[in-house]
Amino acid sequence: MKLHIGLDDTDSPHGGCTTYIAALLVEKLHKLGASFSDYPGLVRLNPNVPWKTRGNGALCLRIICEEHLQEDLKECVIRTVEEHADFSYKGTDPGIVFLPGDVPSEIEEFAKRAIIGLVEKDEALSLIKKYNAEALGFKRGRGIIGGLAAIGEQLKSDYTYELIAYRTSENRGTPRRINASSVIEMDRKLGQLVFSNVDYETGRILITPRGPDPVLYGIRGETAEAVRLGHELVVSEEPIERWVIFRTNQGTDAHLRRAVSISEVKPYSPVIVSGEVSENPRVIKGGHVIFKVRDETGEIDCAAYEPTGALREAAKKLTRGDFVEVYGGVRPASPANPMTINAEKIRVLRLAPLRVCQNPLCPLCGKRTKSMGRGKGFECKKCGFHSRSLRKIVIEKERQLKLGLYVTSPRSQRHLTKPLSRYGQEKRGISNHIDGIIPYEKISSC
Ligand SMILES: [Zn+2]
Repeated sequence: MKLHIGLDDTDSPHGGCTTYIAALLVEKLHKLGASFSDYPGLVRLNPNVPWKTRGNGALCLRIICEEHLQEDLKECVIRTVEEHADFSYKGTDPGIVFLPGDVPSEIEEFAKRAIIGLVEKDEALSLIKKYNAEALGFKRGRGIIGGLAAIGEQLKSDYTYELIAYRTSENRGTPRRINASSVIEMDRKLGQLVFSNVDYETGRILITPRGPDPVLYGIRGETAEAVRLGHELVVSEEPIERWVIFRTNQGTDAHLRRAVSISEVKPYSPVIVSGEVSENPRVIKGGHVIFKVRDETGEIDCAAYEPTGALREAAKKLTRGDFVEVYGGVRPASPANPMTINAEKIRVLRLAPLRVCQNPLCPLCGKRTKSMGRGKGFECKKCGFHSRSLRKIVIEKERQLKLGLYVTSPRSQRHLTKPLSRYGQEKRGISNHIDGIIPYEKISSC
């Protein structure tokens, strides 16, 4: 029989990681006799939900097992979550969902909405009841939402892979010891097959997280083979407890939906809007750049934040009349600010001419004249020529901005943001491994 296991919200800023629980389960369930019909799924949900500050990732394991094993397997999942979830943290509300059989389309749709917008726990519970799934919520049990969404998101369109390597328990909480030049070498060697491993603007290595969680590093790439090869090329100066390859919606822009019009943009739902820049950008305290975009239905503030390097530089060079697409999360209005799109990407589709007025040149000596004041004409300081009939001239200045797509720097990209390097590499339709069996050795090692 087929069984889908969804997990969410077991970690906290103090440690733990739901991917680690999934990694432990891959080994445990395999030992109990389960086979895997897919790579473990790491599904990033809407990063703009108000109650989440971290990566908002939910996990799914899809297994095939003999029916009589089912209860033992479920028991093992529950016990492992109980042992490893951080119950002490106030905002951690673990959830586990078990769904037998195939994934109904209604649960697929629920998952899509959990990625692009907001869904309620009651809705999750009624789907669980309707389709004979089982759910276990600890504390407030908000993790049930993510658990069900992870089951529903079967990554049938674009997807990527991440190999996550975990630290041994004695090293957790200490600085991670990875040979940085081996990461750069790996990234160069694998080229387009991997992404978001190095931020070349700053030279920073991006595969290692910070903080006390058990993740040593994660390598992102286009194929399972590529991330596994990446793992072999990275030199770790500390032992690795285990690694697992996840199939994921990271780096696919799955959270962004094109808004029909600016007036329909809603807080917390990431969007793509298009319109004309209606107010020149201004730089506010902290170096953030704010500009306005307008269409026939309305106008909205857009922000490019300081750490977003190339994106912020492009935003600064926009001018009234430029036609752009802005991609990003939507922050609700506050007493201090109107509703604002936090830009992750800007596509410049049309540049308005940038016209500036200049004083005319002196007809005698060619020097630029000075204005004598409104209606009083122009005077040449060099030769003394004066005329009331000279007029200001309008010249078109060359734009410093080029048409095209500008993306936040890798170091400040969200998990879901599709990096520039992935454009053109999007996968269409699912590869053949769903409904097949993936050998444990291909998914995981410990
Ligand atoms: Zn002159």
